[in-house]
Amino acid sequence: MQTTDFRYQRKRLIETVRGRGITDEVVLQAMIDVPREEFVSDELREFAYRDAPLPIGSGQTISQPFIVGLMTAAAELAPDDRVLEIGTGCGYAAAVLSRIVKEVYTVERIEDLARSAGARLKRLGFHNVHVRHADGTLGWPEQAPFDAIIVTAGGPQVPPPLLQQLRIGGRLVIPVGDERTEQELIRVVRRGSDDFERTNLGGVLFVPLIGQAGWHDDKARVPKSVPSQNQNSRAGIRPGHSNALRDVAEPFESIETANLKPLLDRIGDAQVVLIGEASHGTSEFYRMRARITKALIEQKNFDFVAVEADWPDAYRIHDFVTHKDRPEPHAWEAFARFPTWMWRNEEVLDFIHWLRDFNRNRRAVRRPVGFYGLDLYSMFTSIHRVLHYLKGVDPQAAAVARERYGCLAPWQQDPATYGRAALNGSYRSCERDVVQMLRDLVARQVHAAVNDGEDLFDAQLNARLVADAERYYRVMYYGSDESWNHRDRHMFQTLQLLRRHHGDKSKAVIWEHNSHLGNAAATQFGRRGQINVGQLCREEFGEDVYSIGQGTDHGTVAAATDWEGEMEIKSVRPSLPESYEQLMHLTELNQFFLPLTKSRDQTLTSRLAVPRLERAIGVIYRPETERQSHYFEVSLTKQFDEWIWFDESSAVHPLGTQKLADYEPWHPFAAIDR
Ligand code: SAH
Repeated sequence: MQTTDFRYQRKRLIETVRGRGITDEVVLQAMIDVPREEFVSDELREFAYRDAPLPIGSGQTISQPFIVGLMTAAAELAPDDRVLEIGTGCGYAAAVLSRIVKEVYTVERIEDLARSAGARLKRLGFHNVHVRHADGTLGWPEQAPFDAIIVTAGGPQVPPPLLQQLRIGGRLVIPVGDERTEQELIRVVRRGSDDFERTNLGGVLFVPLIGQAGWHDDKARVPKSVPSQNQNSRAGIRPGHSNALRDVAEPFESIETANLKPLLDRIGDAQVVLIGEASHGTSEFYRMRARITKALIEQKNFDFVAVEADWPDAYRIHDFVTHKDRPEPHAWEAFARFPTWMWRNEEVLDFIHWLRDFNRNRRAVRRPVGFYGLDLYSMFTSIHRVLHYLKGVDPQAAAVARERYGCLAPWQQDPATYGRAALNGSYRSCERDVVQMLRDLVARQVHAAVNDGEDLFDAQLNARLVADAERYYRVMYYGSDESWNHRDRHMFQTLQLLRRHHGDKSKAVIWEHNSHLGNAAATQFGRRGQINVGQLCREEFGEDVYSIGQGTDHGTVAAATDWEGEMEIKSVRPSLPESYEQLMHLTELNQFFLPLTKSRDQTLTSRLAVPRLERAIGVIYRPETERQSHYFEVSLTKQFDEWIWFDESSAVHPLGTQKLADYEPWHPFAAIDR
């Protein structure tokens, strides 16, 4: 029973390793052939198939399977090869190598480990592995030269004796680097007796290589502090890797109980807090930003929340949380257009119910906390809202408005086509009409602000949205960068209008995707001319803005395969080796806050500024083409002030329809009878 279970787990693990980018079938097959559970102690057997390093005693670790796959593949092995491994540990990597090549020679400096690994390999029938207790930085001269050498501990340099024991044409794979930070995995190919070609395979984390041509002092390299860990997590296991990220990360056990005090201190007096997310369908991102937002509202008197949603739909939430209950049913269903799960979900529902309760008590003392949408995809609902407003206060003006907006009416089903038609001259542009409408509504301010300030404000913002949306659909045809910039500028200007509306020093929390909130100037998009809300905020508010990104390694996500497609619960692939996500994953911490610009370890901060990949999942997720569709080069510490990490995460919970039928007509998620 247990054997089959392990076999199944092993297959899944190999799929994870494949998902991380190891595609060499010979290597993957060798990993399927080696029972990893036999290489760890009994208590750790249940963890044997996590893609993580595990302790094996004497302060050492069994390498992470992905890393074993990566190094083995990098060594480009052939069946007749003779291979030297430095750092036997428990013998796992040696066993994997032995399935691929003819002979494996492996050296371990800790006697106990060498002895028990030797016995284990013999017992399991890996007869072509030879174990020796010695300082491996000196190699195994009697058996040299080798076709490949793999070093599974990190040294300050490539040990010269190993270079000499490499046959011409041979490959050496070794982690090299400074102990306080991650090492670089280096591959050296010996082209001639004095000709070594070196390539860097990316950042990794290993236990130290200690010996004559390695590090000298054991003690100096023990990680300074080991943060406490959740008993049930993949940890409960002490890490063997030195890891500077671990030292500064602030781990937490659950979103509900996480201590927010240090984060709130770092936020300080910032007036605008940006909270990003790496996908639009991950429950943890929604819950964590709700938790932080509640704290900002309760403890720092934040005035409103503004999100990446359409203005009129979000305004329904605003009415609800500020107790402007209007008993007549709404004319349209809020958040009913694709992607419905982005706002109509349990996580958002919880937050808006909380905010309604909070405002119930607060109304008497201060203006209630508002909730607004910054986005511009609601041209026709916004037209409808402007007309509705004018009908109530000025029927004549409503007639004029209907006339003007009539220009756009034929394009209701497909506003993008309007853009094309207007551009190529086959339809007249409605620009003048929509801009004139906006001017008219702005001019109304003077007369009406006294009695219907809020409704007028809503109508004005809708008129502005229509004008910006009209333009958006036209500039779309000039290219994606233009329309992206126009949209982000619209969102930023909406934020500014909201701050003016709430008072000059008012404080705002913004919820949007990382790609809108992380400073675009720190990304590959910035280099080609894109701007975003995060960058505009930084330029405008400077130190008064605090931006937070959130990310994950693997789990599930709610997303569609195509635009307008059905929502699916998709598996999120483990992160790619050259990503920031991979660095976070290698900390072995399940979840943590990572201060960046206000970190006490500025060396680490500057190292994290070196560009790497970062994953972005929107409402669409296409794992098959993940590298091209979802990874982008960024510089993390220039992008955000802080990062929140969830190693494993799960899909957001869309609202069931049953529940919606029970809501009062003024509930923002109420269904409407048609
Ligand atoms: N190959 C192992 C990894 C073990 S961790 C696996 O498959 O899991 C690295 C090992 O390198 C440790 O056991 C450590 O004791 C050993 N080591 C460190 N310095 C060494 C040296 N100079 N010579 C030989 N082994 C060394």
